[in-house]
Amino acid sequence: MRIVITGGAGFIGSHLVDMFLSLGYEVVAIDNLITGKKENLTIHKNLIFLDQNVYKCIEVDGKVDWVLHFASPASPVDFKKLPIQILKVGSSGTINAVGLAKAKGAKFFLASTSEVYGDPLEHPQKETYVGNVDPISERSVYDESKRFAEATTMAYHRFHNIDTRITRIFNTYGPRMRPEDGRVISNFISQALTNKPITVYGDGNQTRSFQYVSDLVEGILRLMKTNCNDPINLGNPNEFKIIELANIVKKLTGSKSEIIFKPLPEGDPKRRRPDISRAKEVLKWEPKVSLEDGLKKMIEYYKSVLQLQK
Ligand code: UDP
Repeated sequence: MRIVITGGAGFIGSHLVDMFLSLGYEVVAIDNLITGKKENLTIHKNLIFLDQNVYKCIEVDGKVDWVLHFASPASPVDFKKLPIQILKVGSSGTINAVGLAKAKGAKFFLASTSEVYGDPLEHPQKETYVGNVDPISERSVYDESKRFAEATTMAYHRFHNIDTRITRIFNTYGPRMRPEDGRVISNFISQALTNKPITVYGDGNQTRSFQYVSDLVEGILRLMKTNCNDPINLGNPNEFKIIELANIVKKLTGSKSEIIFKPLPEGDPKRRRPDISRAKEVLKWEPKVSLEDGLKKMIEYYKSVLQLQK
């Protein structure tokens, strides 16, 4: 098997690269390193790294069995900093990636997101829910480009008969998430370990459901092995308030940080929890790692990374 993965040097992409290498596959990791890091990739005889901007053009020699499109900045902080790049990688980048799959006779896998549900009016979110997205909010660059990416994937599937998969990934965390990434778990652990204030946005009553990266990687592998072309949610259905998360991180790190409250970003969804019935049925999959166990692993990783940054 020879796998092309866009965003291969990113947080989730690099964990997938490791898994494919461990299975003996050949991997071509493509990344422009805008948010990915080359250090996330090991040196391996079966791994080729290509520094390419997938929204401009993708060039890969030789046979390809799968194209996995995982390239995109994905933190709400990036929605403000990199809005045009996000729009381009979700739109032109998806067309280029699925076009590569078409040219090579390969299968195509799209990393989509729970953000396609927007600020959901249905709870928990099933794949049949069509979402509540504000097309002009700051988050829309990510939400709408991923919705466009899903539309593109389904059009190539229907019109060109490409064998495609779509997963909607809910909040995921784990090693290799950048400490400066701006998302809630990376912020809270970095803040707690450096005894800086833990910044809760809004009143902290908004909820999220957090999935450890190894559970996601297992779900993706299972989805590749099915013939399901419909979107499948991959996430952990255990839902927590953000204020609860702040207290758990404080307890697990033994931090003296105070918890402070900051304004809620525009369009911040109030509740998010995946309905994973489809994943359970089709993939025989459900997450195994509890929030506390996952956070402990992440804290150990951040201790080593933050030490290196000193
Ligand atoms: N959040 C927070 N403090 C932070 C970062 C995020 O309270 O330092 C909140 C944010 O407002 C949101 C939730 O945590 O309600 C999850 O935010 P994240 O950026 O991780 O991703 P999102 O799920 O919003 O895409």
